[in-house]
Amino acid sequence: LPYLEKSDPVIADILSQELARERDTVELIASENFTSRAVMEAVGSVLTNKYAEGYPGKRYYGGCEVVDMVEELAKSRACELFGSAFANVQPHCGANANLAAYMALINPGDTVLGMSLDHGGHLTHGSPVNFSGRLYHVVSYGVDAETETIDYDALEAAAKDVRPKLIVGGASAYPRIIDFERMADIAHEVGAYLMVDMAHIAGLVAAGAHPSPVPHADIVTSTSHKTLRGPRGGFILTNDEEIAAKVNKAVFPGTQGGPLMHVIAGKAVAFDEALRPEYHTYIQQVVENAASLGRGITDGGLRLVSGGTDNHLCLVDLTAADVTGKDAEKLLETVGLTVNKNSIPNEKRSPFVTSGIRVGSAAATTRGFGAEDFYQIGLAIAAAVFNAEDAERLGDIHEQIEGMLAAHPLYPGL
Ligand code: PLP
Repeated sequence: LPYLEKSDPVIADILSQELARERDTVELIASENFTSRAVMEAVGSVLTNKYAEGYPGKRYYGGCEVVDMVEELAKSRACELFGSAFANVQPHCGANANLAAYMALINPGDTVLGMSLDHGGHLTHGSPVNFSGRLYHVVSYGVDAETETIDYDALEAAAKDVRPKLIVGGASAYPRIIDFERMADIAHEVGAYLMVDMAHIAGLVAAGAHPSPVPHADIVTSTSHKTLRGPRGGFILTNDEEIAAKVNKAVFPGTQGGPLMHVIAGKAVAFDEALRPEYHTYIQQVVENAASLGRGITDGGLRLVSGGTDNHLCLVDLTAADVTGKDAEKLLETVGLTVNKNSIPNEKRSPFVTSGIRVGSAAATTRGFGAEDFYQIGLAIAAAVFNAEDAERLGDIHEQIEGMLAAHPLYPGL
């Protein structure tokens, strides 16, 4: 970072500390990943200088002929990747994509049926502390108490009862395949729209490892930075021309100003990467690695919510080890494993404490970790939480993890 080191050594030093942190721990946060150097170059480019309010060919500023090419490419690549007729690639993040999608489809005060936060939904699916819970009348659905998988019959009954204008599918902490076709049938039967927020599983959908919501949902929203492995950002897909026009208005001028053209360039690069055969191989490995991680965790004596995983993440119930999610998150950091605390279905503790952790395979798979590594990490997680007071045992675990990290260097040469 020659320019930054000279101009602002304080920030340069902080950035190098972050690179070291990313290199020296196993990143198991299920919503994170490591973008390619190509994506980072696009995001760190001169496009950060350009104002481009509006859409390609219809901008409110001059000099947009170059950024128009970038946005057109990002849109067409998104459409090709997900088989959709229309894409808006301007949302600055996933929450903004969801805000615009709500605004395109419904009015404040309308009833929304979304997955509750403590059953795996996202804040933007109706939490009272979020715009979604404040602007709309939200009724929540969740998972069955026994199977801990989405109770579609209960969802259908709730939809018939409350007659929502919108049903929101998709989740932040749900380890199983979601039946978007069934959700669409339920929504359309009661005259509601179906919006699917595929942020977590977008990479799996792109590579065919999870059924696509695009043929079924009225609107699909997503982030570009989780399993999809692009830059931090959001996008919206639909096959309906009328809805597409409403989405465009809802993003700009409805909820955002100038688009982040440098990030849109990064999205275009990532969409193209995701169209390649290597990306399909990567996603297959992500799914295999998550299953292997889950086996390690259960062989180590902990329980997985729903009994396993079909996607890139596992939700771990820590009850057997009598440790909170908050304490486990801190403890695992000391042995080189970065995870996040997470509520589990029918959680008894606050969201700041929790009884679970969420772990995912997307990031560490990018740096080359394989199924056996993930199995060992699963065993290590369980061993650490069951031996939280045993400094020697924790030291051994840390050493083992450091060996794995050294075998799979991150961003060599950076
Ligand atoms: N939707 C889902 C399902 C998510 O898990 C997240 C983030 O974790 C978001 C939306 C929000 O994305 P962002 O953090 O980019 O606003």
